[in-house]
Amino acid sequence: MPLTGIEIFKLLPKTNCRECGVPTCLAFAMNLAAGKAELASCPYVSEEAKAKLEESSAPPIRQVVIGAGEGALKIGGETVMFRHEKRFENPPGIAVLVSDLMEEPEINGRLARFKELRYERVGLLLKPELVAINNESGNTDKFASLVQKVASETDALLILMSGDAEALKQAGAAVKDKKPVLYAATKDNVDAMAALAKEWGCPLAVKGEGLEEVSQLTSKLTEAGLKDLIIDSSPSSFRKAWEDSILIRRAALVDKHRPLGFPTIVFANRLAQGLAQETIVASALIAKYAGIVVLSDFRGESLFPLLVERLNIYTDPQRPMATTEGIYEINGPNEDSPVLLTSNFSLTYFIVSGEIENSRVPSWLLVKDTEGLSVMTAWAAGKFSADTIGPFVKKSGIADKVRHRKLVIPGYAAAISGELEEELPDWQILIGPREAAYIPGYLKGWTPS
Ligand code: SF4
Repeated sequence: MPLTGIEIFKLLPKTNCRECGVPTCLAFAMNLAAGKAELASCPYVSEEAKAKLEESSAPPIRQVVIGAGEGALKIGGETVMFRHEKRFENPPGIAVLVSDLMEEPEINGRLARFKELRYERVGLLLKPELVAINNESGNTDKFASLVQKVASETDALLILMSGDAEALKQAGAAVKDKKPVLYAATKDNVDAMAALAKEWGCPLAVKGEGLEEVSQLTSKLTEAGLKDLIIDSSPSSFRKAWEDSILIRRAALVDKHRPLGFPTIVFANRLAQGLAQETIVASALIAKYAGIVVLSDFRGESLFPLLVERLNIYTDPQRPMATTEGIYEINGPNEDSPVLLTSNFSLTYFIVSGEIENSRVPSWLLVKDTEGLSVMTAWAAGKFSADTIGPFVKKSGIADKVRHRKLVIPGYAAAISGELEEELPDWQILIGPREAAYIPGYLKGWTPS
């Protein structure tokens, strides 16, 4: 059970030294209880108090790390039911399934699509992370060779699927340092699976028939010292999967029911027929509240919307995605190249810079800090106004980089052109297109004189 502010206060040094950024230990304790502060901000907490506080301040849904090193994936660690309450922390992993009963061309096709379907958007690389490898044949050698193949041909994080702990041990021994998910402990094999997960230090999926059985299994495993668990409640339909997903989140967060305080894995392929239906199921469960979603296959038209949906849901709603203020060089500009101005909302920046790049016209792009707001919103909020843009342009140093004095502002900010000319009397203010798609055409007609 989480501690109250007063209980936390009793464990703090009570010196009111202010090093944590608040005036008193009591204020810090209250912030900690409300999830607004990190324990690490107080350097003077004793080890004993730290152990007690860390346990009580652990997120109600455990954060589980899959894989090792830079490419590791964190799932779980969630603290709210609804994104607007704070934010969702760790985006779910997206996996493709291969089986050792599949023909080679089918496996190759799925792995090729896993590797190829990657997209750059708003400066981020959107891609699936995992391959689930199913020992459907029951043959350990076939399983081991497929595990080897996936590990050597892709950078995927792995989910090793077998009900036989011995088969997992033999097939997975060569990849155990990659910290794959072992799928799955059930009531029939729980002890053997627990021993293997403990020996390798790997996350363990727990599969039960319904939430009651899952709770019993996770309780038994946590008592045995295993913490990194991932839940599969074996839903028989999409409706059941949806209900279970919400019940698990609610039980962990609202009822503080620790046995369900783990991220989940759902197999969209078991709940739908055909990739289109699978994609809809996956989309719903990404929104609520899967830790890993497994699909039978990927196609660009199915995977891309899921990646974008995941990106949107897991951005912090209180912090717009923003680009750093400054001067950006596009296509190798020189002193006669046009100077364009935009806001630092990431999406705006990437659309505008993308269109300038497409134009092949060497250009300077001035990105003004608008606290991540788009041009129109920033203008309405007074953050893209002449009296803030003027000083920014002067300070930016762009005047040293170009011989001309022409500044292209977004068409949506045309209303500020007069005031901006007053702020920047040496500059001629030109109104650019309202839509970024028209930037290439606009730039084609550019002359510095
Ligand atoms: Fe108290 Fe620690 Fe904050 Fe100092 S840093 S005021 S001891 S909580």
